[in-house]
Amino acid sequence: MCGIVGYIGNKKATPILINGLLSLEYRGYDSAGIAVLENNKIVVMKDKGRVNNLNNIDGINNLNGTIGIAHTRWATHGKPSKENSHPHLDNSNSFAVVHNGIIENYNELRNFLTEKGYTFISQTDTEVIPNLIHYYYKNGIKDENVFLRAVKSAVDDLKGSYAIEVISPLFPNRVIVVRKDSPLVIGKGENENYIASDIPAILSHTKNFYLLDDNEYAEIYTDHINFYDSSLVSHSKAVKNIEWDASAAEKDGFEDYMLKEIFEQPNSIRETIGSRLKLNELCSFDDLDLSKEYLQSINKIYIVACGTAMHAGLAGKNAIEKLCRIPVTVDIASEFRYRDPIIDDKTLCIYISQSGETADTIAALKLAKTKGAKTLAVSNVIGSSITREANYTIYTHAGPEIAVASTKAYTSQVVLLVILAIYFAEILNSTPANLLNDLKADILDLPVKIETILDQLEPIKDFAKKVYTQKDMFFLGRGTDYNVALEGSLKLKEISYIHSEAYSAGELKHGPIALIENGITVVSILTDPSLVEKSISNIQEVITRGAKTLVITNQNLTNKHFDFVINIPNTNPLISPILSVVPLQLLAYYISKNKGLDVDKPRNLAKSVTVE
Ligand code: GLU
Repeated sequence: MCGIVGYIGNKKATPILINGLLSLEYRGYDSAGIAVLENNKIVVMKDKGRVNNLNNIDGINNLNGTIGIAHTRWATHGKPSKENSHPHLDNSNSFAVVHNGIIENYNELRNFLTEKGYTFISQTDTEVIPNLIHYYYKNGIKDENVFLRAVKSAVDDLKGSYAIEVISPLFPNRVIVVRKDSPLVIGKGENENYIASDIPAILSHTKNFYLLDDNEYAEIYTDHINFYDSSLVSHSKAVKNIEWDASAAEKDGFEDYMLKEIFEQPNSIRETIGSRLKLNELCSFDDLDLSKEYLQSINKIYIVACGTAMHAGLAGKNAIEKLCRIPVTVDIASEFRYRDPIIDDKTLCIYISQSGETADTIAALKLAKTKGAKTLAVSNVIGSSITREANYTIYTHAGPEIAVASTKAYTSQVVLLVILAIYFAEILNSTPANLLNDLKADILDLPVKIETILDQLEPIKDFAKKVYTQKDMFFLGRGTDYNVALEGSLKLKEISYIHSEAYSAGELKHGPIALIENGITVVSILTDPSLVEKSISNIQEVITRGAKTLVITNQNLTNKHFDFVINIPNTNPLISPILSVVPLQLLAYYISKNKGLDVDKPRNLAKSVTVE
């Protein structure tokens, strides 16, 4: 999620590291730091806030070391602060580490290390890594390979995602790196090598890259690099020439951030699931301890949000009502706060905001607090305003979202709300464990299923080409498919400026069907087997009136005569929005591209809506 830079060579490392971090700052980070080997010691300089703050740290420009690692943090564990910034050191100051990702079992590792006498300065998950390396170094045979073996032993203990750089004054001629589910590249120079989480950080120095694979280690020296697999068997690796310009590089080769973020969804969902949900185990939230007595005492839940987050809330409502049998009302924050909602200490209010800064949602949260309700925030940004106001916060961990139109934050919000519903259901014992376990298996399969949808772009591109000149479109669905219809329609409006309406398929004939005329496009979502037949009848009604239909479905509809069908994998209807929304995101994206619009920065919109 964060940015990583590293350097080993004959030049002063500090300016290379800071400039590298600066070129990653477009993603908006919360703290930054560097560690440089200086006179056989590790010197760490770090601070909260923007990368440029580093330049104000006394002495930073006098560092002459030629080996260093650097980090811009996008906090996941522990608020943005100097002490939580990376790099982190072990207790003996022998190993400095920067880390991108989440260590899911850090509590367990922290307890283990505490028992062994280690102490911790930060609240991060990362700080266990240098201490584990030290632990294994201390207990290892001190030959030339002890550093690499100690890093590998520490990494073997980690669960979660990571890209890690390690330096040590005990081995002052190398940087060790490893990654899993987090990007890391090595830039090859002449008698120098660069490391980065994202290519733009080092693109001005080299075009020759080694793209590190998952579970692959590299031991990087000034003039050579050794690559190893996860068992430390060495292998050779081909260098890749990447002729990207700076803007393509920031987007990882994707044309736009929105497309990049759509493609990040398999991984962002993996991060959201993290260690919270496992097969045959009860769901757990590190940061939430709602008692059975409390959950039994509540008689109503409000989910309050705006825009896309509100659509995620609708999916949350379906899951909580179905699994917990607690009534849930989803409200638009700007309405909720002015309509004197009925709230008391038996009401739980859940607020969803990607940025955590949405003014209407924060105001709605403050209102519920004054009426004695407990408040739970769902946010993507650690330490954001909403998380400081709420009684409880659970984080989506979707990583920074830059495109204004939300994609990966939405799917992560839905996943998180469904996991929350399972967590409540397990405490309340309101749904049989075997059904919950089946749902857990379906949730764990989501990332791979999204990958299969992302493998079939052509039909969506073709359809977008056919319809991008349209003035109006309709989106239809029933149940959770209706919730997705709302989100698909909003995505289209946001980035293509095509007027569109989403209706519950059964509601169409109560008015809006008057708008259906020859040639109009109707997009239908059909994934819930219990509702498919009914929805098909509604689609027939619009076909009869001349509509062109695109159907997104996980059902076998070969005998039906729709103009276009996009097949998606099957899953539990409670989580089908997470799959069916992906073709809709792509449809909006390709329509906007066909129209030549600025996908990432649509007119009149802002990423974080901090005004009422
Ligand atoms: N989980 C680590 C932290 O919160 C790293 C976050 C990141 O990727 O920036 O410090």
